[in-house]
Amino acid sequence: MPDDATPKAAKPGFATRMSHAARAPIRSLGFVNPPLHRGSTVLAPSCEARRENAKRRFERVMTYGTQGGPTHYALEDVVAEIEGGTHCTITGTGLAAVAVPLLAFLKAGDRCLMPDSVYGPARGLAEGMMAGWGIETTFYDPTIDAAALEALWTPNTRVLYLESPGSHTFEMQDVPALTAVARRHGAVSMIDNTWGIHHFQPFAKGCDVSIQALTKYVGGHSDILLGSVTVADEAHHLKVRGAASAMGHYASPDDCWLALRGVRTMPVRLKEQEAAAFEVARWLQGRPEIARVLHPGLPEDPGHAIWKRDFTGACSLFGIVFQPRYTEAEVFAFVDGLELFGIGASWGGYESLALPTNAGISRAVTPPLPGQAVRLHIGLEAVPDLVADLAAGLDRLPR
Ligand SMILES: *Cc1c(COP(=O)(O)O)cnc(C)c1O
Repeated sequence: MPDDATPKAAKPGFATRMSHAARAPIRSLGFVNPPLHRGSTVLAPSCEARRENAKRRFERVMTYGTQGGPTHYALEDVVAEIEGGTHCTITGTGLAAVAVPLLAFLKAGDRCLMPDSVYGPARGLAEGMMAGWGIETTFYDPTIDAAALEALWTPNTRVLYLESPGSHTFEMQDVPALTAVARRHGAVSMIDNTWGIHHFQPFAKGCDVSIQALTKYVGGHSDILLGSVTVADEAHHLKVRGAASAMGHYASPDDCWLALRGVRTMPVRLKEQEAAAFEVARWLQGRPEIARVLHPGLPEDPGHAIWKRDFTGACSLFGIVFQPRYTEAEVFAFVDGLELFGIGASWGGYESLALPTNAGISRAVTPPLPGQAVRLHIGLEAVPDLVADLAAGLDRLPR
């Protein structure tokens, strides 16, 4: 295959695209993988060339390490391909990928609308630093319809933030209907698409900006932190790149290189983990200790119709809500007693995790869950082993 070529078939399959994206075998001296470039200083051939290059620094004309280099650009191209966008900016963490576009598109006097189920640290940024700078945030019911969103709108509402399904509580949002409202008002719609990676195409559903915590399935091995901000037009790209650059955001090329390694196997991991999570979720639905399984891919979930319409699949993160009779201490003991599920934040790695979530849920306009909740991430272990571990834990609960 020639330098920089991508397969030309009618749209190649996801696994094919992830195998071939952003590889340049000639520039890599024939080696299969893009090389790792580390560096701060970038030498220019002349003073005049350096001055000209600086004007085009957001167009990948390398002038200094902070503008990124070939390893960053290779990852940006892969992520833009996954998200269906045109330009991507890599950030050092997923949270930085949340903060950069919010600060790029909002200024003092503006208002942001955020779903009540938003990722906790995004809420913290809005209620803390953004409020301090005079940016107002209103939290809305994530299941809001277009008419109710329209009723919330004010002339200074400049950003509609979305996350579907929501963190911890997994409510689905009607993204096409809600982004249409924002578009009518000339506002920017941005979505945290981490859960929907590959299975939700944000730009086809009306979003202007898509955020990924690459820390999750792209990394895939719980050993890096990275984020991405993807857009589908040049003007949005210049805003995002300009804000990231102004604030000195940067990601380690070593981590970008590991993320590039991660994407090659991500399609097979996603497929395997999706199927395993469905199996475990359905099994949990049949247990009397569990009141509800929060997984939009299950037909019983209130968000299922939207998931079926807008998504091509699911990742391996979902929640369970215990019957209201169980106390926090009992549910902590259940989690503590599991042998194969680690207790920890993050997800998307090869290993299973369990995390009590009630304490991390803060809501302004939506009711609390009716019982103790635990978020489960299903890794690559054998499903019968995971089910046996969960069964033993549920059997230990008081009758
Ligand atoms: C983990 C996560 C983030 C932040 O990613 P980090 O790399 O851990 O900063 C953002 N959004 C969602 C929905 C996440 O789950």
